[in-house]
Amino acid sequence: MWVKDMRRLSENFRAYEFQCTGENKIPNFHCCGGSVFIDDALIVALQDLRWKCAVSITINSGCRCKRYNRSLGKRSSDTSSHIRGYAADLAIPVEMTYNEFLALIRKSGLFLGIGLYNGFIHVDTDPNKGAREFDNRTGGKHEA
Ligand SMILES: [Zn+2]
Ligand SMILES: [Zn+2]
Repeated sequence: MWVKDMRRLSENFRAYEFQCTGENKIPNFHCCGGSVFIDDALIVALQDLRWKCAVSITINSGCRCKRYNRSLGKRSSDTSSHIRGYAADLAIPVEMTYNEFLALIRKSGLFLGIGLYNGFIHVDTDPNKGAREFDNRTGGKHEA
């Protein structure tokens, strides 16, 4: 059963924002029950970004257990940083444009990976993949 995890991780982020959403979003689907396993460095980077944006940041997808991630099929793979708690997909805040938000993320210097997708931006602190930026706005696959 999916239970909203209200623990506070930083000034503006709570655990439920990162919970695996498999059981919450998909009817009759069973996975980890909404686990949270999130890298401290990612929380630090997101909180820093939150202060710089001065508007709330919505996380479309944070942690994904392997089972939920596999349910995404071609859109993700077992190498995804989301499986190890190093990644978050951020909605573009309504208060700013895609490129304004991206500029703040680039300037942060606290993220290792930055992935551009239609409608959201992937950020991660995955030490196994290192610093990189990729633009996937023409394709549908999302495995980072
Ligand atoms: Zn799960
Ligand atoms: Zn992602």
